[in-house]
Amino acid sequence: MYNPKSMKAEEFIDHQEILDSLAYADAHKTDRALIDAILEKARERKGLSHRDASVLLACELEDKNREIDALAEQIKKDFYGNRIVLFAPLYLSNYCVNGCVYCPYHARNKHIARKKLTQDEIRAEVIALQDMGHKRLALEAGEDPVNNPLEYILESIQTIYSIKHKNGAIRRVNVNIAATTVENYRRLKEAGIGTYILFQETYHKESYEKLHPTGPKSNYAYHTEAHDRAMQGGIDDVGLGVLFGLELYRYEFAGLLMHAEHLEAAFGVGPHTISVPRLCPADDIDPGEFDNGISDDIFAKIVACIRIAVPYTGMIVSTRESKKVRERVLHLGISQISGGSRTSVGGYVEEEDPEDNSAQFDLSDRRTLDEVVRWLMEMDYVPSFCTACYREGRTGDRFMSLCKSGQIQNCCLPNALMTLKEYLQDYASPATREVGERIIKANIPDVTNPRARQILIERLEKIAQGERDFRF
Ligand code: SF4
Ligand code: SF4
Repeated sequence: MYNPKSMKAEEFIDHQEILDSLAYADAHKTDRALIDAILEKARERKGLSHRDASVLLACELEDKNREIDALAEQIKKDFYGNRIVLFAPLYLSNYCVNGCVYCPYHARNKHIARKKLTQDEIRAEVIALQDMGHKRLALEAGEDPVNNPLEYILESIQTIYSIKHKNGAIRRVNVNIAATTVENYRRLKEAGIGTYILFQETYHKESYEKLHPTGPKSNYAYHTEAHDRAMQGGIDDVGLGVLFGLELYRYEFAGLLMHAEHLEAAFGVGPHTISVPRLCPADDIDPGEFDNGISDDIFAKIVACIRIAVPYTGMIVSTRESKKVRERVLHLGISQISGGSRTSVGGYVEEEDPEDNSAQFDLSDRRTLDEVVRWLMEMDYVPSFCTACYREGRTGDRFMSLCKSGQIQNCCLPNALMTLKEYLQDYASPATREVGERIIKANIPDVTNPRARQILIERLEKIAQGERDFRF
C-alpha cells in the first residue's frame, strides 16, 4: 500500500502506485484542461506530485511542451539565476564485490585493472585537482569491505581536507559510496562530508534484482532505504539519482519523485540534489545491450519536468554527456556540472594511457576545467566554486527554509562572484580571465541588497590583493 511516510521501500516506492500514475498520465497526455491546471499549479513554484509531473512528462501537445520548457527555464532562473556550480569526481578505488551488470567494476570483470589509491596517491590527485581550481569533490569508490572499508574512506576524507596547496583547498567533499549502516553514516557525518549521494539505478524492484544478481547491493530494500539511514545518522543533505537506460524512463521518473516525496514526508527535507546519468559505454559495457536507452529530446524533457516538480533541489549532469547536450539541459534546470573530470582511479595524475581500462564510463566531454569555465561564461553563466552553505552550517531543513523563503539568493550570487574571482586570479588562462572579469563586472549590479553589494565590491578587491576564502 502506497505510503510516503513509511520507512519500508516497497511502501514508499509502491509499484502499483507507479503503474497507476503512468496509466493516469497516458490517459491524460492530450488533456489540455488538465495540463493547463497542472502548469498553473507549477507556476506557484511549490513543486508537483509524481502523478502530476508524470502527466507533463507524457504530454504530447507540442505547444504545451514548449510551455513546459519555458516554465522550467523560468524556474531555473528564479531559483538559481545564471550560476552553475562546478565539481569534480575523485575515484578512490574500483575494487567491488557487487555484480551490477551495467558497470565495468562488477566483480566478475577479470580483465579490468583494479586500483586503489594510497593516501600519498590521493594527496597527488587532490593537488592536481587543486591546481585545476576545484574546491568541491565527489568521492567515488566501489563496495568492498576488505579493500575499501569505511576506515579507508574516512582516512581519505581526512587526507583531502588536510591538503592546503598554494591558495587552494578542497572545501566540500561529497561522498558516493555503497549503502551502509546508520552508525557508519554517523561516522561519515563526523568526518565532515557534504552531501551523501547514492543512485538508485532503477526503482523497478524486479529489474533491480536482475541487474544486481550478486553482492550486498542486490538487496533492493537495503539500498532504497539507505538515504533514510543516512538521515538518521545525521547527514541531512542527501542526493538521489537513477541510471536512465536500465528501465522505462517514465517508471524511473515517477519513482525518483516518489523518493523525493518520501524524504520530505518522513524527514521534512527533500533531496539536496538529483543526478540524471544516462547509461554510456565502458570496458565490458555496451549500452546497446540495454533496451531502454533514451534520446536527447527525452533526456531534456526529463530535466525540464524534474526542474518543475522539485524547484528547490539542485540538479547535476556529469561529463557522461556531450558539450552539446549539456548546453541544452543547462537552460532547462541543471545547477551543477562536473568539469575536467577523470573517471579512472588515479586519472588526474597519470598521463592518459589508451591501454588503461580502469574508468567507470567513457567521457563525452573531455574539455579542461578552464575550457568549461570559459564556455559557461561565453553563454553568460556565472561558474561558481561556492561551498558556503555547508561550511556555514546551512544544511538540511535550515538550507531548505532559506531556499523556500528566497533568501538564499542574497548569498549565492556574491559567493559565486567571489569564488569565480579567486579562480580567475589563481588558475585561469589569460583568455578565460578576460571573459571572467567582464562577467563579474556585469553581474555585480544584480546583487540587489546595497549593503551586500558594497561588501562584495570590497572583498573582490581584497581577493585581487591576495586574500582568499570570503563567504556570505
Ligand atoms: S555500480 Fe558501484 S556497486 Fe555496482 S559494480 Fe559499479 S562500483 Fe560496484
Ligand atoms: S550560497 Fe549555498 S546554495 Fe548558494 S551556491 Fe553557495 S553553497 Fe550553494
